[in-house]
Parts: sequence; C-alpha cells; structure tokens
Amino acid sequence: MALFLALAKIVSKRFEKIDFKVEVSNKQAFTKLHVRTKAEIVHADLPNIKPWERTGIHLEPAEFKKMKDNEDVVVVDFRSNYEHSVGKFKNAVTLDIENFRDFPDKISELEKYKNKKIITYCTGGIKCEKASAYLLENGFENVYQLHGGIIKYGIEEGGEDFEGKCYVFDNRIVVDVNSVNPKVVSTCYVCGTVSDRMVNCANPVCNNHVPICEKCGWEMEGACTPACKTHPEKRQYDGTGYYQKNSNGYNPYIGLKRRKEEINSNN
Ligand SMILES: [Zn+2]
Ligand SMILES: [Zn+2]
Repeated sequence: MALFLALAKIVSKRFEKIDFKVEVSNKQAFTKLHVRTKAEIVHADLPNIKPWERTGIHLEPAEFKKMKDNEDVVVVDFRSNYEHSVGKFKNAVTLDIENFRDFPDKISELEKYKNKKIITYCTGGIKCEKASAYLLENGFENVYQLHGGIIKYGIEEGGEDFEGKCYVFDNRIVVDVNSVNPKVVSTCYVCGTVSDRMVNCANPVCNNHVPICEKCGWEMEGACTPACKTHPEKRQYDGTGYYQKNSNGYNPYIGLKRRKEEINSNN
C-alpha cells in the first residue's frame, strides 16, 4: 500500500486531492482489485445533489469526539439496518432503511432536530458527503459530517462510544473500532443471546446479514431460519458466514503460482 501511495503521487497530480483510505488488517480483506468508472459512487438517485459544491462541515475525529455529546447536537447514522443493528454510536439516531437510496424518504423524521446541530456519520464518510448535502438542500442549516467515518474515528480516536462492531464491505464482514469502552449491543438472530458474530445467511436467496452466535451458526449450518436451513441452494457453512462472490473464474493465485514456477525453473 505504501508503494502504491508513493507511485500514485509520482504518476499524476490528479491524485493530489484524493483521500486514500488505508487500514491495516491481519488477513486478506479483498479478493481482487476493481478499478471502474462509476456515475455515482454510492447509488442514491440524487443527481441534483452536488457535494463538491455544498456539503456538511467536515469534522475531524478529534473534533467529533468533543462535540458529539453536547446538548445542542444530534448524531445521525446514515447507514442501513443491517449495519447499525450490529453497531452504532451511543445515543445516535438511526434510520429504518434497507438501502442508502431510501434515506430521502426518512428525512421528515429529522425535522424535529432542525434547530440543533446535526452530525451525520457512516462507515468511511462517503455516504455522508451526500446525506449532509441533501440535508442542507432540505432546509437544515447546521449540518456537520464525521470526516473519514467510523473507521477513521476508530484509528485516530480509539473509537470511544461506538457500541458494537462496524460493518464493512469486504471479507472481514465486521471490524472492531472501539478500543476505549467496547460493548456488544447486538443479539443472535436465532436464540437471542448477546452476539456480534455477523454472518450472511447460507441460503443465497435470503443472504440475510444478521448476527448469529457460534453455537447457532453450527446448529443452523449458517442459516437464519429453519426454512433457509433446508433450502435446496443452501451453501456449505464453514464457520465464517462469508461466501465468496462468483468472480468469473478469476483466481489471483493462479498467476502467482505460475510466476513462482517460472522463477524456480530459471534458477
Ligand atoms: Zn444463537
Ligand atoms: Zn435466511
């Protein structure tokens, strides 16, 4: 990653203002690298929102930490149900949404906070660029956003007062961000005991993202309901609850193996 950053700086001035998100992980979090042109980074269907022109005031993690508990502040989570159900900031307001593009329908629920300072947050700070811009567009005046999201707050401020785990969009499923005052807030979808073991239901048609405890995971073979357990397409449960997406047969290790063989035969 350090090499990549160094190269990016040398290659083009174009990357000067790019905010690269670097995080250390002790296991392989991504199977392959995609570089694509997208019309919209996180699909929200809001073509009139232009965060690069007007968006909520960016708060660095340290500033957020100082402000979040003030009387005149309301912290709002702009992530979906499956994300905030496994972890969120203490006292944060959540929205009942299955998908980010549904958030505009829920803005009326925030009307009662119009005279307060609203701080939006999400996983890495990207959704907030739009969500906070949308709030400004809809007459909210004091709008702030947590720059770099939960992840950067965890790295820089130890994640204080983030309760539960942070859902991420890679092989890790969830990560710990709070090393100051961690707390488990979610319960097993099957038996109701305290658990933050996030899995995808083994039935690919369901694919429910829910916490399921270790014991229920094995008993249910990774399924969220008895119906999912007996589903004919149910995937093999290996104890992780993560299932590799079909990547068109691409296997990054094949090329690596071939190169090693070439090197060995040349020696
Ligand atoms: Zn359980
Ligand atoms: Zn299921």
